This record gives sequence, structure tokens and C-alpha cells, in this order.
Amino acid sequence: MVQHRPTTRLPLRQVEWMEHGGSVHTHGTFCPFRRASTSMDSCRGCPHFGHLEGDGAMECLREPTLSHAEAAALLAKRRICTGRDNLMSRVMLGELGAAHTVCTAASTPVSQAAARVVAAEAPGCIVIDERHHPVTFVSRTRLASSHPPWLPVAECPTEPFLVMPEDSPLDDVIARMTQEHQRVIVATDVDARATGLVTDLDVLRWVGERRRA
Ligand code: SF4
Repeated sequence: MVQHRPTTRLPLRQVEWMEHGGSVHTHGTFCPFRRASTSMDSCRGCPHFGHLEGDGAMECLREPTLSHAEAAALLAKRRICTGRDNLMSRVMLGELGAAHTVCTAASTPVSQAAARVVAAEAPGCIVIDERHHPVTFVSRTRLASSHPPWLPVAECPTEPFLVMPEDSPLDDVIARMTQEHQRVIVATDVDARATGLVTDLDVLRWVGERRRA
């Protein structure tokens, strides 16, 4: 078994696409080295794949491209968000976000979508079309307060969100969130399919973790 050693990377994340009819397809994770989403099978066949003992979480053990020391130095100089040649321009949207992203077809009953969101500890679900393109976002709170349980998730009240390519640099993400007053970003792959969900809290958490490093 590959031994765990500290990295700056978050554990590998997955996106679930719940199709019309209830079947669930699990897509892979964003690979920061390929700068694109890849299937979990590709990760499992990669020499950098690691399985953490205990909770069964999966992690990429490839040497980090950013060290904690470098991150701390850049933050101490207050150089974040001030230019392209900094840490924020090298971290990509796809590297952030919850361990699981839940996407559901518009016809999915609220109760089913809510159960998956709770199990995944996700902030909500992305409603997708038949091509897995994002259509709307329904927050956890909205799911919990929507009745009756068989109501199609597409009929729930929705929250605004931005769509950005998963390889967008973090400084661009923060700039758009700020300029457009948005708190939720849906990451998409080259085929415009939803592959991740990032909130303002995820961004704050990322910055906070590097401040503590
Ligand atoms: S384990 Fe391999 S394929 Fe997966 S994210 Fe890491 S480098 Fe990419």
C-alpha cells in the first residue's frame, strides 16, 4: 500500500450524476497535473494514487507543486489577488470544493436529492440536463424546506450561480465572485459538463488553511 505523506492537495473528489430514473454515475476527479477531470479508474491506475487508512479517503500523493512555505510567504506579502504571477493564479477551481458533488436530473424527487446531498455532506445539488450541463442549483436549505417529498427537484426554489471552466485560476474565480456578487460556482469540463461545486466558504477555507501553514 502507498504510504501517506503530507501534501498540499485535498483528497480526491468525485462527482455523481443522478440520471432520469434514479441511476447514479460516478465520474472521476479533477487532476491538477492534467488540468482536467479524469475518471477515478485513471487515478487508481496512476502511481500517485493513495488510499488513506482509516476512513478510506483517496488522495493524490504526487509531489505538490505548491509548498505550504511558499503559500505562507506569498500570503504574508499580501500578494494574493494582485497579479498573475502568484499563488492564486496557479491554483485551479477544480482543486477546491467538497469531497462529493451531487448532480441530479430535473425529474429527481426532492427526497431522493436531499438524501444524496446529506450523505455527501454537499452544500446542495446541481440540476443537470441530459448532457450533464448545469441548469440550476438547489441549496441544502431549499431542499429541506421543499414539499411534498415527490416534488421534482427542478420545481424547488433555486439559487444563482456562476459557471466557470474547472481549470480557471483562483484569482479569476474570486474576481468574478466579487464583481458579480455570487457565492456558488459550478465547475465544468471541456464538454461543459458539471464536475464540481465551489462556494465562497470553500475559497475562504482554502485561504485560511494556508494562513495556518
Ligand atoms: S492520482 Fe494521478 S491521475 Fe489522479 S489526480 Fe493524482 S496525478 Fe492525477
